[in-house]
Amino acid sequence: MRYISTRGEAAARDFVGALLAGLAEDGGLFVPESWPHFSPADWRALRGLPYAELAARLIAPFVGESIPFATLQALCHAAWTDFDHPAVVPLVQLETGLWVQELFHGPTLAFKDLALQLLGALFEHVLAARGERITIVGATSGDTGAAAIAACRGKPHLSVAILHPYGRISEVQRRQMTTVVAENVLNIAIEGSFDDCQDLVKALFNDRAFRIEMRLAAVNSINWARIAAQIPYYVASALALGAPDREVAFAVPTGNFGNVFAAYAARRLGLPIARLVVASNQNDILARFLARNDMSIRPSVQTLAPAMDIQISSNFERLLFELVERNGKATGQIMAEFRKSGRMPVPDYAWHRARLIFHGFRLDDTAILAEIRRVHARAGYLADPHTAIGIAAAEAAPVGHGVPMIALATAHPAKFPDAINQATGTRPPLPARFGDLYEKKEDYVILPNDLAAVQAAIRAKLLGNAA
Ligand SMILES: *Cc1c(COP(=O)(O)O)cnc(C)c1O
Repeated sequence: MRYISTRGEAAARDFVGALLAGLAEDGGLFVPESWPHFSPADWRALRGLPYAELAARLIAPFVGESIPFATLQALCHAAWTDFDHPAVVPLVQLETGLWVQELFHGPTLAFKDLALQLLGALFEHVLAARGERITIVGATSGDTGAAAIAACRGKPHLSVAILHPYGRISEVQRRQMTTVVAENVLNIAIEGSFDDCQDLVKALFNDRAFRIEMRLAAVNSINWARIAAQIPYYVASALALGAPDREVAFAVPTGNFGNVFAAYAARRLGLPIARLVVASNQNDILARFLARNDMSIRPSVQTLAPAMDIQISSNFERLLFELVERNGKATGQIMAEFRKSGRMPVPDYAWHRARLIFHGFRLDDTAILAEIRRVHARAGYLADPHTAIGIAAAEAAPVGHGVPMIALATAHPAKFPDAINQATGTRPPLPARFGDLYEKKEDYVILPNDLAAVQAAIRAKLLGNAA
């Protein structure tokens, strides 16, 4: 399997090439040159497999010749061992026709663990074989940094430096990162905003000498391997609820469009998905696009679902590429115009195509709290704010009678105890295995918003690992 860029001007790579590169050199995102296809008989043959086995067989066509199947299988079997539930991604029924798929049983209690645990294993395997080491750097507003650190800890060929805005993430989120005390992990609190952290990370990558010296790499959500790793849970729940002999629908709490693009990929593989509901908070650019082809940037607002406080959904470019019939030149032009004017000129025919599959939905903070309260009262289920948006979207979605609707639960309620408490008067406890999170020693440095200071800290702690 080869990977091409959505902007059509980068050299094609194999799976490992796309994994290591992240972004294509023409600024586009890697997508498979062609979509693999699973027949109804292929889907039936996957029913009832353990999750890791199912995942290996689904990811295999995307990996192609890059990694032998037996190795991929072993990596998949190792990737999700640190999950709290034997089914890894269990389904919970809320009411007739409506299920929640829980994606939060991993080491940092959010769905990003599902992709990043496999990505960490893939990187380690590839780098060990080549005798190379890399330093992963990233900025986080909460969930991604913790998942990246959990994925890198204890991996001899990976180091990781994560920047977070000092005092602006929740205590649970901070402690999940800073209590990982290891020689290959560096936590930096920046006296500034999340945007400052992101700008610093960009500046680190743009400093060519530093990038080469530290062998910098990224694991952000545009990495194709993250998308591939998110396909299996859609298949697992669809098969459990009757696919391929019955259609299913999903409601997906969405920020960067990575998770819901994985659902689209599952559909392209031939999984019978009748509808994909794109669930947003007040940062509703995707809902406006789907309602009236209005993809225009507005100032980002802080909400109770912070992982979805995003205006530019970077993975949308992959869908755009498909909507314009995989025309890289057109995709590049539309993206350039979007960057210049803040409004994405999606051709009408492409917008109509998107609406055949996707349906947009938005929920503001007051309604999020009401939904958490309603779901708790009606089904006895505690949904975190992101999940609550997904459940509300699922309830409101136009799907045919008898089509099972699956809302994705993207974070554990204990990650957002204040919102849950405000809505229901209960404070969900952390799962038992995190009981000592508040007693553990923390390790992080606090730095001003200054590139040289950040570079010095990264060199001081991680340079020895980058050889
Ligand atoms: C990252 C995240 C999302 C958004 O996922 P995307 O792939 O960026 O669309 C939703 N909910 C939670 C809890 C997250 O951490």
